[in-house]
Amino acid sequence: MDLEQLRGLTIYPHSVVDWNDTSFVLVRSGGEKYLSVLGDATGFEGQALGPDPESLRLCPLTPVNAAVLRERLPWLRPVPLGLRPSAGFGDRLGLATPGHVRAARRADSIAPIFAQQSVRENARTGRTPQQVLDDAMWGLFQEGWREPWGADADHLKTTAVVDDFVAAGYTFYTIDPGDHVDNEAHTASLEALKDKIHALPWADLEDSPEGLHERYLDRHFEVQNFTLEFDQTTLARAAAKYGRAVAHTAAMYRYLVNRMGEKPFELEVSVDETETPTSPEEHFYIANELRRLRVRWVSLAPRFVGRFEKGVDYIGDLDEFEAELARHAAIARALGPYKLSLHSGSDKFSIYPIVARLTQGLVHLKTAGTSYLEALRAIAQANPALFREILALARERYETDRATYHVSAQLARVPAPDGLSDADLPGLLDQFDARQVLHVTFGSVLDRFGDRLLATLREHEETYHTLLEYHFDLHLSPFMGGGEL
Ligand code: ZN
Repeated sequence: MDLEQLRGLTIYPHSVVDWNDTSFVLVRSGGEKYLSVLGDATGFEGQALGPDPESLRLCPLTPVNAAVLRERLPWLRPVPLGLRPSAGFGDRLGLATPGHVRAARRADSIAPIFAQQSVRENARTGRTPQQVLDDAMWGLFQEGWREPWGADADHLKTTAVVDDFVAAGYTFYTIDPGDHVDNEAHTASLEALKDKIHALPWADLEDSPEGLHERYLDRHFEVQNFTLEFDQTTLARAAAKYGRAVAHTAAMYRYLVNRMGEKPFELEVSVDETETPTSPEEHFYIANELRRLRVRWVSLAPRFVGRFEKGVDYIGDLDEFEAELARHAAIARALGPYKLSLHSGSDKFSIYPIVARLTQGLVHLKTAGTSYLEALRAIAQANPALFREILALARERYETDRATYHVSAQLARVPAPDGLSDADLPGLLDQFDARQVLHVTFGSVLDRFGDRLLATLREHEETYHTLLEYHFDLHLSPFMGGGEL
């Protein structure tokens, strides 16, 4: 590439690509990023910097240009990642991927999912599945990532929301049948359970109550080094609680198979956002039934014991967690193999060594809001005045915005901005209550301060990306030691 033509522009050196006689490089000019194309610029929208056809063309980072670039450079398209250990890097702001790439590069046995947002997150941030995927793609292009990466359509609850993710090219679909899990069944009497069983959608389950009893009742299942048994109550509870969820997951899967056609994809099943933990017997029932219904999946997220609150470490008994996880991991190996998926998986530092040891590489670590918190840490360093305004709003909004989240922070423990010096501000991102208060109020904060917040991060992107790299090193390194991980 004739770099002379790029004079006056800031070049992202890792982005430089020479491919089929055309050169591509990401540049910045006056705060805006552009794709510069030298050579065959067919299809790209943008402005030529000179009169002849060989002139460099400066192309804005539009959806059209993202699509054309993806067409040219195959490694910019997400792909299924299979059973490799993997990590999901949700990015609500669309600016974090370069930091994620740097951490992923150091953890080369872990396959990254750089695009990952749920319908709920998109609603709160006002982004579309295509924007999320494009933002991730530009970020990994900036850093020169050429290894396989995935795109996760997270927490899909109905078929109605699937099509936009399919059209955008997502490769990993997380089905959340949580609305069809009957939490009452967790404590219901056997009589009540029998009524619930009677009312299950037996046709959709391709099954009958008699068939269910025959397959499970009073039988022992040897699952690696464990034995699972189903007496009448255990079976009734599992089927009453998860039967409809199994039917819904199978329906969602068939819809996806139909919509994806020839395009390869992988499925995750997640029941993590339910009120009660998934017992090993219930996990076995779910997986065994999905298999009977010919559903294929690559990972499954049970609702584990203990509390997986947003943005903070695991809360619960580590010995109990370990004992349960050992059973879940054995089931995942025996009935799959498939990966166990840890949702709200960020910042759970006390359990990572246990998870790494027991899953032996059959693991997916899903994170989302923690990258937003690192963005706020960058703001606290680079623009204390803005951070003070964000903190004040977060304190105001917390009691309302926390409604749909698992958090236990107490507002009284989060200091008001007036009482803090600038130097104290970044430290709030290490404090339990402040982390959660800031975490769950992101929708309100983006509504009010979105433009300023993004502008500050763009201006100080190196600060942000360095913080992310460090933060995700801490997350990924426990999974890197020895064995398959
Ligand atoms: Zn989840």
